[in-house]
Amino acid sequence: MKSLRRLLAIAVCIVLPAGLLPAEDKGVNPKVQEMMGQVSEARIKAILEKLGNFGTRNTMSSADDPVHGVGAARNWILNEMKSYSPRLEVRFEKFRVKKQGQRIFKDVDLYNVIAVLPGKKMPETQVIVSGHYDSLNLGGRPAGAAAPGAEAGAPGNTTAGMTLEDFEKNANLPAPGVCDDGSGTSAVMELARVMSQYEFDKTLVFIAFAGEEQGLIGSSLQAVKEKKEGHVIEAVLNNDIIGTDTAGNGRMSNTTVNVYSDETTDSVNQQLSRYMRDVAERYLPAMKVVNVFMGDRLGRGGDHTPFQWEGFAAVRVSTPNEIYVNQHHATDTLDQMSVPYTTKVAKVNLVVAANLAMAPKPPIVMPEPRAGGGRQGAAAGAGAAAPAAGGRRPTPMIARGAGYDAVLRWRAAGSEDDIKGYAVVVRATTSPYWEQEIYVGKVNTYTLKDVSIDDLKFGVKAIGVNGMESLVTPYAYPPRVKVEIETVQ
Ligand SMILES: [Zn+2]
Repeated sequence: MKSLRRLLAIAVCIVLPAGLLPAEDKGVNPKVQEMMGQVSEARIKAILEKLGNFGTRNTMSSADDPVHGVGAARNWILNEMKSYSPRLEVRFEKFRVKKQGQRIFKDVDLYNVIAVLPGKKMPETQVIVSGHYDSLNLGGRPAGAAAPGAEAGAPGNTTAGMTLEDFEKNANLPAPGVCDDGSGTSAVMELARVMSQYEFDKTLVFIAFAGEEQGLIGSSLQAVKEKKEGHVIEAVLNNDIIGTDTAGNGRMSNTTVNVYSDETTDSVNQQLSRYMRDVAERYLPAMKVVNVFMGDRLGRGGDHTPFQWEGFAAVRVSTPNEIYVNQHHATDTLDQMSVPYTTKVAKVNLVVAANLAMAPKPPIVMPEPRAGGGRQGAAAGAGAAAPAAGGRRPTPMIARGAGYDAVLRWRAAGSEDDIKGYAVVVRATTSPYWEQEIYVGKVNTYTLKDVSIDDLKFGVKAIGVNGMESLVTPYAYPPRVKVEIETVQ
């Protein structure tokens, strides 16, 4: 994959004057490296200590106590983020949630804490880094036991048989939640501090969600609101449980992190996951980003999922080495954590968010709506994703050309001014990663001679004049729709 682009780059270097050189070959941006160097382990540790010291951050705990409970915690997070930079727009996003189920045993106000660093060139496009600041103690429930039903396989999260009274009582138990999810919150806050000292093309949004432990409440309400208001969210990097490097069974690694996306081949979530691996391992070569093509850890949930439901690209960043016995208990404390590990994962987030926020928007591979003429145009003109007559749906701009070639077309999602060129990527259908990458210059179509479109996957990405790469847009063909066949009786 590298060699082709490198060869092409060398070839072009020889024949073209300096102004026409292609993007740096898989380069690192010195500005991003500088930012990465400013992520402070000491600061992350101080945040974790502080979060643990609120005693509990249970959504149903005291909202008014100045030093203890969820109210004190969210006020502190808000004020800390406000102190980082005057350019950071920090606010509470408040939702009034009705009493429902067992975990929300009374009407409650939820406050997501949101810090926005407006982009300079594409302010309408957001890159989100998030975690949840609420915590939970499930009382005397046994950890490590398998739970039936929806929470199957969720050790330490066994709520089967718990009564409303149990939940009421548990709301005031100690729930330090330093790993779950003080760790994610500390990364969000530290990145808000470091990144707000710089400027980016796209808007960076740092969110500490509320009500995750009540059933992804804060993130669900936020995702629905973003969708309703027509916001463009290019990526959500949600960090939940990034604080331990040694599991309860002794399995250990401080150089791997799991990224959960979903199980749909070539979904936007999987593209984001691949991008994370590609970029993070370039800046942190000792760190392994493990693409897990599952929605989350088996049977369990997180705040990335509600954003996926609204059609936004979202992933969960999580340690592969959890300590189940501490989860949702009073023992989820700082002494059980690895702050150096949390710091590394924070750096993974930083380099990915910074690259995305400085890169062009990913190219569009679908035809313009109502382009007119031809099968594709007719299908697109039929509107939305509704199948036209004969079960045809809008299809990406990939074709066989005159015969046995792969002909790819695309268009820029925004201004072409900041785009240096494009790279076409190819892989076997069974391969998790793009295997071949061809820098093709500033064009909107490219033909791969004698390459069959019938047994490979294709994609295209934009490369900015600053060398930063967009997410890959895959040529994902819609599945054939079942058609009812009429027969003569
Ligand atoms: Zn969590």
